[in-house]
Amino acid sequence: MSENASSDDEQAFVDAVETWVEKELRPVARKFDLADEYPHEVVEQMKELGLFGATIGEAYGGLGLSAWTYARIVVKVASVWMAPSGIFNSHLIMASAIERNGTEAQKQDYLPRMARGEYRGSIGLTEPNAGSDLQAIRTVAKADGDDYVVNGSKTWITNSLHGHGTLLLVKTDPTAEPRHKGMSLLLADKGPGFNVVGKLKKMGYRAIDTCELTFENYRVPRAKLLGGVEGKGFVQTAGGLELGRINVASRGAGIAEGALKLALRYAQEREAFGKPIWQHQAVQLKLADMATQVEGAKLLIRQAATKYDRGERCDLEAAMAKLAGSEAGAACAQEAMRIFGGYSYSVEYDIERFYRDAMLMCIGEGTNEILRQVIAKQLVDRNRI
Ligand SMILES: Cc1cc2nc3c(=O)[nH]c(=O)nc-3n(C[C@H](O)[C@H](O)[C@H](O)COP(=O)(O)OP(=O)(O)OC[C@H]3O[C@@H](n4cnc5c(N)ncnc54)[C@H](O)[C@@H]3O)c2cc1C
Repeated sequence: MSENASSDDEQAFVDAVETWVEKELRPVARKFDLADEYPHEVVEQMKELGLFGATIGEAYGGLGLSAWTYARIVVKVASVWMAPSGIFNSHLIMASAIERNGTEAQKQDYLPRMARGEYRGSIGLTEPNAGSDLQAIRTVAKADGDDYVVNGSKTWITNSLHGHGTLLLVKTDPTAEPRHKGMSLLLADKGPGFNVVGKLKKMGYRAIDTCELTFENYRVPRAKLLGGVEGKGFVQTAGGLELGRINVASRGAGIAEGALKLALRYAQEREAFGKPIWQHQAVQLKLADMATQVEGAKLLIRQAATKYDRGERCDLEAAMAKLAGSEAGAACAQEAMRIFGGYSYSVEYDIERFYRDAMLMCIGEGTNEILRQVIAKQLVDRNRI
């Protein structure tokens, strides 16, 4: 939609997602989260809405939404239940990597199926010994005839139990210096030797499948090397960071907005010392700070997404948006817990889920410690004396 469709069409899509979120997602969120059960019915509804093709180009059957519209959709979903946004987001990060870097044959093979949600993807980067320092991964793909033979393991891979394959970061040359020159991405479909070891039990982000994977002499055709050239995997991964960070920022801002909404309502319903608790100044301070963080995060997301849509460099802006959005999510969820008092601790109330889900946003797509370093380096680079 980004190139041809009017902003009215994009607004109509955001409105349709909002209606779905309130009508279908809100009523089932607590049930699936507490049972830690994969929400198949929600996935089917997301397919029908077109969410699995949200950012895939129209030429490949997707909606081709702008980053700004995509961000607004993610905020809407996460403001009710963050986990389902992960089901289409990891998938769309894989799709975006294929669209940016894949050969035409790879795009034709994967993107239409991905846009329909028939093939659902994941991102296979992290290993037990390597998260922030991705160049330290140990999974190796060795060329053998027309195939690569892959051995190694991954962990924390979201969508990997119910998904159909992963964008797998491997070392095609483990001895390369600098290390990133020996790294490649493979379009790894499930098959013999691709083992999903088990679904990890998590504090939050429940219902969605995050798993450990092992690869034992797993064969991938060489035609599945992303872009057809070895040694580009690290750069291809880094190329997706701006959109990935806008996405996580939006998830954090959505959690923050959802927590604020719940707290605003509760503060008007609950009475203490003869008046609704919102009339106590201590509660007002919290509500004011929360609302300011929500709006600040959304403005930073808008700035980053708008630059992204104009094709401008936005690594600094996306990092700031991710930092602000995720910290807003964590802070607002915690403040809302305080406003709910003892009831915040009850699983009968949604706010405890927001609290459990929020911290993940400070970890994924670059921890906030790493992001602060990115921001500081960019600031110095752009303001050299
Ligand atoms: C629920 C969940 C879902 C996930 N889904 C996926 C997925 O789908 N695909 C995937 O590939 N990964 C996924 N991850 C992994 C996630 O991306 C990593 O956990 C994250 O990148 C951090 O890596 P790490 O856990 O190895 O922490 P580490 O890199 O070991 O970091 C530990 C601490 O050290 C700090 N640190 C490390 N290096 C530096 C530095 N240079 N400067 C300052 N501080 C530093 C970090 O900020 C952090 O505080 C998921 C994780 C979780 C928890």
